[in-house]
Amino acid sequence: MNIETMTAQEIRYGLMEKNFTATEVVTSLFERIREVEPKIDGYLTLCEDEALLQAKKIDEKVSQGKPLGKLAGIPIAIKDNICTDGIKTTCASKMLHDFIPPYDATVVKKLKEEDAIIIGKTNMDEFAMGSSTENSSFKNTKNPWDLDRVPGGSSGGSAAVVGAGMSPISLGSDTGGSIRQPAAFCGVVGLKPTYGLVSRFGLIAFGSSLDQIGPFGKTVKDTALTLEVIQGEDKLDSTSVKQAFTKDYLSTIEQGIKGMKIAVPTEFFKSGLDEEISTSIKDSIEKFKALGAIVEEISLPITEEGLSAYYIISSAEASSNLARFDGIRYGYRTEDFVNLDELIEKTRSEAFGEEVKRRIMLGTYALSSGYYDAYYNRAQKLRKKIKEEFNAVFEKYDIILSPTSPVLPFKIGEKSDDPVEMYLADIYTININLAGIPALSMPCGFSKSGLPIGIQLIGSHYCEEKILRAAYSLEQELKLANKLPKL
Ligand code: GLN
Repeated sequence: MNIETMTAQEIRYGLMEKNFTATEVVTSLFERIREVEPKIDGYLTLCEDEALLQAKKIDEKVSQGKPLGKLAGIPIAIKDNICTDGIKTTCASKMLHDFIPPYDATVVKKLKEEDAIIIGKTNMDEFAMGSSTENSSFKNTKNPWDLDRVPGGSSGGSAAVVGAGMSPISLGSDTGGSIRQPAAFCGVVGLKPTYGLVSRFGLIAFGSSLDQIGPFGKTVKDTALTLEVIQGEDKLDSTSVKQAFTKDYLSTIEQGIKGMKIAVPTEFFKSGLDEEISTSIKDSIEKFKALGAIVEEISLPITEEGLSAYYIISSAEASSNLARFDGIRYGYRTEDFVNLDELIEKTRSEAFGEEVKRRIMLGTYALSSGYYDAYYNRAQKLRKKIKEEFNAVFEKYDIILSPTSPVLPFKIGEKSDDPVEMYLADIYTININLAGIPALSMPCGFSKSGLPIGIQLIGSHYCEEKILRAAYSLEQELKLANKLPKL
């Protein structure tokens, strides 16, 4: 069994055909993990015993001829900011180093209901703040295509384990690009759904008005399949949308894109964009034309301003969300303290990393009286403008196309001393979260040095179906899906 290149769909099919058992799937996957994980460091926790137990249950279902779930026997890795009942969920922070949630996030519950097998929790930037996974308090994850380089972030672990053939699919979270950018860096597919399409219950909050959980896969179809399972209304998340907005993406994915209107903003190809990335995106544009799409250049002037609005709004929300970590209710507590103030101060000083502290300070400042109007309010106004600009484009076009990242995967340590340089890596992804719309990143080429390049397909609210259809068509044309690096 070549578990490292098997897709989720192939696993499910093989299981139904009785070509192999779920136990064999899990056993060979853990063999692969033992071989490759020491090089990648993508996982924070592995759940081999629980996974084998779940596999056994599925094998029993198969032998008794019982109906199987949509993800039957398919291993899945979960980002470590998504709560898993009885399994450590740390947010890659010293603050939650020993936190074991007593409940499952809604997405995890849904995965289990469809017979998926949770195999482990993946590394990330602490509290999902970062673009390289270097802000993890525990370890650096390496890019499977070049072990000296970062896997992107903040869901770097989830992208790297799929890229390295250590899990067919995984879940990440995306507040400003944290699914799409690591997907681009690791040569896999990653989708950030429309805000509200997937429940955030059990996702440890960073920026609540921006956060969305979404899937990674080796192929567009696996990504669509996972989205079908995790989407939908949830009484436990009042921002989740009605069931009527959900769709059966796989049923339309092969319908092609004849006549689909694609917009390419000229602003996205200005200076700052790596030349090899630019060339590769332009090649894909030609492919789209050949597939029958109508591609036109447009202007989306607000692009650059989005970055400052995002860092104000996300940090403001983070400063409020992270106030709950006080050493009293959850996780880490300082050892010596004389009073309550000192307990809280010392706990937070000792357990939060540098980037998290930076965001809390930035956010608190932006929200403080006297500065609220100058920063937070202005950022919200800009956010409104960004939404309007996107809405205007989607009146005429189905998809907006862009690079996912302006740069190729960079070296570990290359940008970690310069936060602003790191923030600039998000230039193409953050506006999508501010607007609440869906976007997908997929491989569209490789640099001369063998590093993956990602293309981003952006759609209007609840237009995941169009994005996935366009992505699948391009994937068939490019034939770059499911490439495995030499490890
Ligand atoms: N890189 C962005 C940040 O640091 C996005 C993070 C995310 O999407 N979680 O905030």
